[in-house]
Amino acid sequence: MSQNPVSKKTESVGQDQFLTILSREEALARFEAALFPRPVHCEPIRLADALGHALGEDIAAPIDVPPFDRSNVDGFAVRSADLVAASEAAPVRLMLNDEVIACGVAPQRPVLSGTATPIATGGPLPRGADAVVMVEHTQPVGQRAIEVRRAASPGQFIASAGSDIARGEALLRAGTVIGSREIGMLAACGVAEVSVARKVRVAVISTGDELVQPGGALRPAAIYDINGAVVTAAINENGGEARFLGAIPDDEAALEAAMRKALAEHDMLVLSGGTSKGAGDVSHRIIARLGQPGTIAHGVALKPGKPLCLAVCDGKPVIILPGFPTSAMFTFHDMIVPVLRRMASLPPRADARVAARVPVRIASELGRTEFVMVSLVEGADGLIAYPTGKGSGAITSFAQADGFLKIDALADQMPAGTEAEVTLFTPHVRVPDLVIVGSHCTGLDLVTAPLAHAGLMVRSIAVGSLGGLAAARRGECDLAPIHLFDDKTETYNTPFLAEGLELVPGWRRMQGIVFRKGDGRFEGKTAEAAVRAALADPACIMVNRNQGAGTRILIDRLLGEARPDGYWNQPRSHNAVAAAVAQQRADWGMTIAPVAHASALGFIPHAEEHYDFALVSARKQRPAVRAFLDALASEEGRAALTKAGFRPV
Ligand code: AMP
Ligand code: MG
Repeated sequence: MSQNPVSKKTESVGQDQFLTILSREEALARFEAALFPRPVHCEPIRLADALGHALGEDIAAPIDVPPFDRSNVDGFAVRSADLVAASEAAPVRLMLNDEVIACGVAPQRPVLSGTATPIATGGPLPRGADAVVMVEHTQPVGQRAIEVRRAASPGQFIASAGSDIARGEALLRAGTVIGSREIGMLAACGVAEVSVARKVRVAVISTGDELVQPGGALRPAAIYDINGAVVTAAINENGGEARFLGAIPDDEAALEAAMRKALAEHDMLVLSGGTSKGAGDVSHRIIARLGQPGTIAHGVALKPGKPLCLAVCDGKPVIILPGFPTSAMFTFHDMIVPVLRRMASLPPRADARVAARVPVRIASELGRTEFVMVSLVEGADGLIAYPTGKGSGAITSFAQADGFLKIDALADQMPAGTEAEVTLFTPHVRVPDLVIVGSHCTGLDLVTAPLAHAGLMVRSIAVGSLGGLAAARRGECDLAPIHLFDDKTETYNTPFLAEGLELVPGWRRMQGIVFRKGDGRFEGKTAEAAVRAALADPACIMVNRNQGAGTRILIDRLLGEARPDGYWNQPRSHNAVAAAVAQQRADWGMTIAPVAHASALGFIPHAEEHYDFALVSARKQRPAVRAFLDALASEEGRAALTKAGFRPV
């Protein structure tokens, strides 16, 4: 990207700022230059609380570990010189001294020549002894003596004082991140308190009139606050100590008060939402009043994440993340984590990366560094990275993704077949045992439940029936769930199978008209009569389905030439149809029975849809595929499907 920021003046009233788009690298460089170098604040902390902190000082070992010479085995403390000639043929007899050295017992008597003292593992060596013989290599002779049948070398089975850690030795260096091993070393030396870099205290605020905290009831048009919880957790994962201060409505005065208070009490402030150019977006305007130098970057050439706002107010970073949760998370991890970790004196994050082939072309916006979440599956020759994004508003893409790949700002696409580098969300790749790519159905979750409970990892990627068939033909999945109606033969699915694929019958889904219960236009009618009644009422609004959906074919047949109000509203899922009717944005539509019933809507059964599986024949013998086929055929599986409103075949 250019080093010369492109300035764009926003036009409308109340949106009076310049939105200057910086490249990702430039924005990060300016942000870091405004924050570093800065003093590291250290504080003493009890060992028990030190986990995850960066050590603030070098620590030299205050004592020897072990503090004394001790035995490594259960046996007898001896003088090795006594046993020089000991052998099977010529055992040496030693008299036992009148004490037993257990752990924690300081020896009282010396080991004189011709004697031995019983000693336990960890017991301190008595004066005179220079070796230990194992109890297994001795023979008792009455109560008072033993016979030894092999020689002992000096120092044998002894850990000498300071052999583990020597007093004065550099134990840990400043900057070391304290893990359980470091805690063990400090405990061994008796260190109860260490000086660590203070965790960065970060205030987290969500903004938006529409936000409700999880646990509260959703009012109409409201959504749950996702960013508050996610950002708080991500800060705690990266050296911060986050305090979530709740969601503040889009009210400039209230937000300014909350931001001022938060900034006074914390080292850093992270907001989300309100950074776009919308009329209600106010947080970025407040920043200018909070301290110097103020906004460093507002608008970064990232996708998702363009509206990111980075500021420094009197030495403290203030960040406004984009409102969309995936945008918020990507910008947080890419742009904020490096700064947060540096403030906490933690080393940069070491993300694990793997190479994987991209099976489909991914379009990308020229001029913005683009992050694309991917699911990894095992292909015939290596890993395959499936884009899982549902758009920046979707949160599930995060849960289903194993990591992400980056498309350079200067590229307008990533061609199919590219070997890409995937940054993993977790340190290890775990490729799924069973990969299902195609049309998603809630019934699928019922069939795969026993596999998941048995420890098999099932990955289901929803790309629609046709996308699933293409993946199956390329051998990228085990099964492709499909529900495709062939107009010519008037049959489902079979006509669409290619070579190498075979049909596994799934279940039937009753499709029909949904409407709000009690609506006299539909109640008690057949589908044909209900549609006639709807067409007769000009105030009646329908919700359609997308072109290519099997459901759409049924709707078009019922409508004939008619194009009623709502025809062009064409969502892509059964659930979206039910939501439109339930929320009174439409009065009728066509969906499947389980979805209608889950939304407590009225339902007129019309025609059954066949939801089957295209099985990649070459993968039929895989254990997870067999487990799936067994679950599908099992009594339990069929009962669960029936209970949910499906009809297994
Ligand atoms: P904004 O940047 O405030 O215009 O928000 C952009 C989009 O993100 C809107 O659809 C918001 O409803 C959504 N959004 C903003 N904040 C949150 C949040 N904390 N949790 C979930 N969605 C949010
Ligand atoms: Mg908002």
